[in-house]
Amino acid sequence: MGCPHDCVFCSQKKITGITQNVTGETARKIIDDYLQAVRPSGNVEISFFGGSFTGIPKSERRELLSVGYEYVNRGLADGIRLSTRPDYINVEILDELMSYGVTAIELGVQSMDDEVLKQSGRGHTAADVVHAVGLIKKYPFELGLQMMTGLPGDTPEKSVETALKIANLRPDAVRVYPTLVIRGTELERMMQCGTYIPWTVEDTVPVLVKIKRIFDNEKIKIIRMGLQTTEEISPGASVTGGPFHPAIGELTESEIFYEKLLEISDGLENCTLAVACRREEVSKVIGHNAVNRKRLENTRNIRLKTQINETAACGELIVIEVKNDCS
Ligand code: SF4
Repeated sequence: MGCPHDCVFCSQKKITGITQNVTGETARKIIDDYLQAVRPSGNVEISFFGGSFTGIPKSERRELLSVGYEYVNRGLADGIRLSTRPDYINVEILDELMSYGVTAIELGVQSMDDEVLKQSGRGHTAADVVHAVGLIKKYPFELGLQMMTGLPGDTPEKSVETALKIANLRPDAVRVYPTLVIRGTELERMMQCGTYIPWTVEDTVPVLVKIKRIFDNEKIKIIRMGLQTTEEISPGASVTGGPFHPAIGELTESEIFYEKLLEISDGLENCTLAVACRREEVSKVIGHNAVNRKRLENTRNIRLKTQINETAACGELIVIEVKNDCS
């Protein structure tokens, strides 16, 4: 709802999975259904995503916000999160969002390169992003910025530059979405007539590695890398091109672990290397289809063993033992 724009990559309804306009009544039903089915613990947020929330006509926007605010006031939710465009932010809107208990605003930045924004039909500039962020930062909202890689006119260098510029804006969190071609979009038409060549998974992962390093170094939380797989967002359904992989974020983390393994094993050959990491990171250390294990074995004749160490930091690898297999 609320978006008169035509970004070339966008098929709002397929991405959100919602195919009808949401009224206060339908929002209430969705929230009630989730609260009943999930029985959440921890931080509970009501989120308005897809479209440009602050572009919805005032009366409909307030109707939806008042439903969310009611759940916050009843203690059933801790806050309200929404996504919108940088050029749909102004002081009047921010005052309104504050008064309805909104806690987090995410802006679709997509790129900080004006040529990429233009070729993608975004209808705003990088300067609009800087302006909107400046306004939002005058309020106590949590700020999330969303970027995309592989848009029309984009290059790996431009994507990395966008991440650096976003990091300089100091958001609380980011989302990074590799561009997928969705059926029926202008981007699909561009792909079919050859004016847009989608990036592959192999093109994308090295760029995501660099982007992740930038945000990790700046201690900016990455909420998500890659669109969530749904019935619609999968090849054979609506995705007709681009670097679709159900776990592209995990591939990226796995690549970062491989680089760490190369550093750790620099100068070693013909040995067994035992490392420890957090339980949930074992599969990333070993790699998808054990690719990291195979690469170490094939390039350095090193056999990789992993152990669990719950006290390891996120992303940390602790060397347990190097055993020379020739001795
Ligand atoms: S501004 Fe957002 S919702 Fe609107 S067309 Fe572009 S990507 Fe889609």
